[in-house]
Amino acid sequence: MGASTAWGHAVVPLTGDKLALAIELGETCGARSCNKAPTWVTSYSYVTGRAGRTSQRHQRVCADHAHAFADKHNLLLTHDARRAAAGDWDNYEEDQQP
Ligand SMILES: [Zn+2]
Repeated sequence: MGASTAWGHAVVPLTGDKLALAIELGETCGARSCNKAPTWVTSYSYVTGRAGRTSQRHQRVCADHAHAFADKHNLLLTHDARRAAAGDWDNYEEDQQP
């Protein structure tokens, strides 16, 4: 059991207002026992239980777990996307430093 029908796996950088809001709210990585700040959003579609409806799941995760997700599903985190996410993160942190 437990085999799930899921597809459309994707990983995108968490940027701009969404990233700022996540930080403001003190969000942490969606992975269990991980307290790092989320800088990526993973998503995939799946069929829910008996009704057979399609749902989409989004989860905000840290860079480490984004890479793990990407590896697991044979996705590529493009260098540009990674750099963009890192850039946004750095800029935001700088803004918050006194
Ligand atoms: Zn994490």
